Amino acid sequence: MNSPLSKEFLADIKKALDEQKTRLTNQLAEFTNKESGTAFPSYGEGEDESAEEVATYDANLQLVDTLNSEMRDVVDSMSRFEKGTYGVCKYCQKPIDEQRLRARPTSSSCVACKKALTQEL
Ligand SMILES: [Zn+2]
Repeated sequence: MNSPLSKEFLADIKKALDEQKTRLTNQLAEFTNKESGTAFPSYGEGEDESAEEVATYDANLQLVDTLNSEMRDVVDSMSRFEKGTYGVCKYCQKPIDEQRLRARPTSSSCVACKKALTQEL
């Protein structure tokens, strides 16, 4: 199925996805580099500090998880670009609203399907 979206719109989205990918790559690299440093501290003097460090560690792990899943979405969206299925809902095969795609370029389902799946927007 050919994407019903305009060339200009697709070029904008492609750019946004490229930028998002670069940003995520940099953020993930930052965490990897800091693994033995400040992002994942392994030392502490008092109990309070240790608790705080554990909390930081947990928060960072969650953030890395989030970054990784965002990265998967971006890569997935880019492959749909190549296949020419970008902007088409993966459930009902109908075009996804342009405004939805602008707000969230990695959307792979239309509002109606998403709503049916999650019971929310
Ligand atoms: Zn749908």
